[in-house]
Amino acid sequence: PYEVLVVGAGPAGASAAIYSARKGLRTGLVADRFGGQVAETVGIENFISVKATEGPKLVANLEAHVRDYEVDVMENQKALKLTKDGLYQVELANGAVLSGKTVLIATGARWREMNVPGEKEYRGRGVAYCPHCDGPLFKGKRVAVIGGGNSGIEAAIDLANIVEHVTVLEFDSKLRADEVLVRKARSMGNIHIITQAQTTEVVGDGNKVTGLVYTDRATGDVHSVELAGIFVQIGLVPNSEWLKGTLELTPRGEIIVDERGQTSLPGVFAAGDVTNSAYKQIIIAMGSGATASLGAFDYLIRHSEA
Ligand code: FAD
Repeated sequence: PYEVLVVGAGPAGASAAIYSARKGLRTGLVADRFGGQVAETVGIENFISVKATEGPKLVANLEAHVRDYEVDVMENQKALKLTKDGLYQVELANGAVLSGKTVLIATGARWREMNVPGEKEYRGRGVAYCPHCDGPLFKGKRVAVIGGGNSGIEAAIDLANIVEHVTVLEFDSKLRADEVLVRKARSMGNIHIITQAQTTEVVGDGNKVTGLVYTDRATGDVHSVELAGIFVQIGLVPNSEWLKGTLELTPRGEIIVDERGQTSLPGVFAAGDVTNSAYKQIIIAMGSGATASLGAFDYLIRHSEA
């Protein structure tokens, strides 16, 4: 069995595997795809100490760093189930079962998409999901935020300080964000909020986004808005479906961890976007991967006879 079996090879899993291998622990790293969300990212400008890089480049560096250590990397493998039979067992989609004295879950999350024409085509070319990451790219331009929940309104307030103008489009007849955020947004001169708006299309010139189309659900009228960027803020979904009923999750499906990254199951740790960490960023995921790995090390020296 592995001493530390890491599931997920995004920034959190890669960092956890390196920390664990550096402790001399027998480490396995099993993942669907190396790099996780970073593989889909175009520009990265907030990975501190690296002024600017690109997703695929950072993924290649992550992978090279992991492979520099004695880590059993198992790619293209999906974990389906976590059980315990003395040791922890992770069942894979291909039928194989891996066992570990500890398991470290770093399966990340995915942004909920609008699923409208143009969204996929213009992803990274005007369609964005992370205001902390991509906001500065739209300095002085007009953008939209899709979604009037807390993350949407926070994004609008954040962006309004950088961009020329923000249009918020909310599907429902009212905003779901906290009142204090809504008041703040309404007090800013360059935020326009539209409710009952169903975005139906992302429009571009073949190269980048030039606008969007929405239907006013009250009247049925169709409107076009010209803009350079669209921030989709309709939810971040943790990849924790396979753990339902196994360990403690928040109502949104995030794995609850303590300050050492341990979950409600002793010996099972978690890190990165799949957890209830307050913010979701590469540097934060890496830090929490390191924390969870050191947590697993502490656990092992207290619980292993051999
Ligand atoms: P992820 O990166 O999501 O990795 C999850 C890993 O788990 C992957 O290897 C995946 O294949 C694997 N996995 C999932 N389910 C299973 C399963 N059942 N079995 C096996 N393996 C599984 N952050 C920044 O700091 N700066 C940015 O500029 C930035 N830009 C972004 C742009 C985009 C378009 C997106 C989507 C995100 C961006 N982020 C950015 C956020 C950042 O990418 C995430 O916070 C970070 O990748 C989270 O790392 P993670 O390791 O927790 O999860």
